[in-house]
Amino acid sequence: MTVFRGSVLHFLDDPGETDDPTAWELFEDGALVVDDEGKVVFAGHAWAVPSRLRTGAVTVDHQGYLIVPGFVDTHVHVSEADIIASYGEQLLQWLQRYAFPAEARFGDPAYARAMCAFALERMLAAGTTTASVHTSLHPGSVDAFFEQAQQRNLRMLGGKVLMDRESTTPDYLRDDSVQAAETQTRELIDRWHGRGRLGYSISPRLALTCTEDMLTMVARLHRERPDVWIQTHAAENPQEIAQVREIYGGRSYIDVYDRFGLLTDKSLFAHCVHIDDADRARMAATGSSIAFCPDSNMFLGSGLFDIEAAWRQGVTVGLGSDIAGGTSYSQLYQLNHAYKVAQLRGGRLSAYRGFYLATLGGARALRLDEHIGSFRPGKEADFTVLDFTATPVLAHRTEAADTFTERLFALMVLGDEQAVAATYVLGRPAYERSRTRCGHRP
Ligand SMILES: [Zn+2]
Repeated sequence: MTVFRGSVLHFLDDPGETDDPTAWELFEDGALVVDDEGKVVFAGHAWAVPSRLRTGAVTVDHQGYLIVPGFVDTHVHVSEADIIASYGEQLLQWLQRYAFPAEARFGDPAYARAMCAFALERMLAAGTTTASVHTSLHPGSVDAFFEQAQQRNLRMLGGKVLMDRESTTPDYLRDDSVQAAETQTRELIDRWHGRGRLGYSISPRLALTCTEDMLTMVARLHRERPDVWIQTHAAENPQEIAQVREIYGGRSYIDVYDRFGLLTDKSLFAHCVHIDDADRARMAATGSSIAFCPDSNMFLGSGLFDIEAAWRQGVTVGLGSDIAGGTSYSQLYQLNHAYKVAQLRGGRLSAYRGFYLATLGGARALRLDEHIGSFRPGKEADFTVLDFTATPVLAHRTEAADTFTERLFALMVLGDEQAVAATYVLGRPAYERSRTRCGHRP
């Protein structure tokens, strides 16, 4: 048994537009107690830790720091670490010029392994303990990713990218056939899905780079295996949307996926910047989730996602870095951008709703909230320890703040990976700011 002392904040539900205080628990002089299996047994006031849990327990002191559930990155490409901060293009040109060549290099298993290790270490350093990951076209990229995730004992989702439309994909990065892609995907599901903490996501890149036959195959495979996930991109960029309309017709981009049967309660759609009420209603009715990637949407000039409309219509939303359309692995950095996107749309994102979004909200979007996302007893103890004094500017603002709410908002806007003092996976240290661990796990 281990008792982690510090301020503890976690969410039981979405605080909603009114910041309903019953949606979260905050224990400023708090304790999180984790058993030897890495499960939460208690989260509450330090004085309230039952004596049976104290007896023989190890205490880890994070007093003065904020302990929150590990961040959930609902959309990230591990194959794109090399092209983060690549200049001057919007989505379709960006894919051709930067993303596709970078992903082609993932055909080399040693390179893929090194890149997956790099991306996972950067996530842990940013406080992220779970992600929904696109690897690359190559089946070996999934092996590389899951091997690295398993070594670190992480709860991760991922899958091989599917892309077979000749007019929109380069010769050097295209599935040979739908049948071959299906065979590879089935083999990967058999090999990895449900192994330890890993889950498989069938990953058609986007409607534009897939044929009708590929989308049909994805739907058929998912009907057969409803326990696996589906992840893809939707309605990100106006030029992309116009091309999708040319190819598929139909009422909207979401409608295309709907027609092929891809809107399910295990489906995750990245971006959804340009969708309407009818799209949101269908997504809510089918239990489909959205990965909101504010930094990427600004960096690639895609547009401003309407998170309030999505929430109002009952669509589950998570937060995503979308590396490398996005420029930071830090979910705090993403929250800073999410706040600004909300402002530009005439709305707001409170600190409480922001931290909900990056933790339990993300877990819900990935349908993993029975395992992670909060500190309810029995949950897996993945958590991160945040430092209100990580930088001089943040420390100064924290000092000047009158309330915890002000401090939390300052952390959300001014914090990034520098604010992460430590990250724990199943109650064991996976990252410490002072000395980064590389590869070795106890
Ligand atoms: Zn993406």
